[in-house]
Amino acid sequence: MFDLTERIALVTGGNGGIGLGMARGLGQAGATLIVVGRNAEKSAAALRELQSLGIRAEAQACDVTDEAAVQALFADVDRRHGRLDILVNNAGSTVRKPPQDFTLDEWKSVMDLNLTGAFLCARAAYPLMKKAGGGKVINIGSIMSLFGAPYAPAYCASKGGIVQLTKSLALAWAKDGIQANAVLPGWIDTELTVGARNQVPGLNERVLARTPAGRWGTPQDLAGIAVFLASDASDFVTGAAIPVDGGYAAA
Ligand code: NDP
Repeated sequence: MFDLTERIALVTGGNGGIGLGMARGLGQAGATLIVVGRNAEKSAAALRELQSLGIRAEAQACDVTDEAAVQALFADVDRRHGRLDILVNNAGSTVRKPPQDFTLDEWKSVMDLNLTGAFLCARAAYPLMKKAGGGKVINIGSIMSLFGAPYAPAYCASKGGIVQLTKSLALAWAKDGIQANAVLPGWIDTELTVGARNQVPGLNERVLARTPAGRWGTPQDLAGIAVFLASDASDFVTGAAIPVDGGYAAA
């Protein structure tokens, strides 16, 4: 039921953090991985790690905010693999400051990466999945899809948008056998959060106090949900937004 052998999976931001954690899980379930990022050194290291685990993987450089580059990436996947079964829209980032200090460029940079990038990749993946007779889109939101944060207005807006985009994809593509779901991670220890964890006084303590599990998550904590949502086990699950947060959203 959870076997992903013969499946082709593309993970944006798959060369580090949560994306690499999910790529590991998908690869260990049998999928062939295409990890996408901009930083060649990081991608090479991720590729070495995946291959050392016996996972079939390749790395592709692409900025997911660049429409032409995204089109070229998926055309290349089509040419070389002839199909795409699993898309994980994971690339994302934030700008940390209050709303009144945001420049328009900063706002746009976060929205372009976290929301428009996911749309561009999903749109480009659709014909490949349709041709394959179905597919799985996994969009990475956040617990900030559900809550506001005074220092992350663009992040919260983009991650809220991810949930609504996911529902729209699910409705539009159900007839094609494509399921679209969102995963909402809680506080996960990665490059994205290490700065805030070290610099924001009291953040570490607040995260630990607000997270019923009593710890930060790790990228590995996202592997299981990725495998479930990528596999036949989730064929009747679509349009959902699933927190993976140690109980943060329930508290
Ligand atoms: P990281 O900063 O560790 O990883 C982000 C990844 O995105 C990197 O691999 C980076 O690779 C890639 N990336 C960034 N910009 C682009 C771009 N323009 N085009 C292609 N790839 C890009 O972050 P996390 O692993 O923590 O976050 C992954 C996702 O999870 C994000 O969407 C984030 O919002 C979400 N999330 C994270 C949480 C956390 O606590 N860490 C909590 C909730 C959600 P490269 O530099 O090579 O481009």
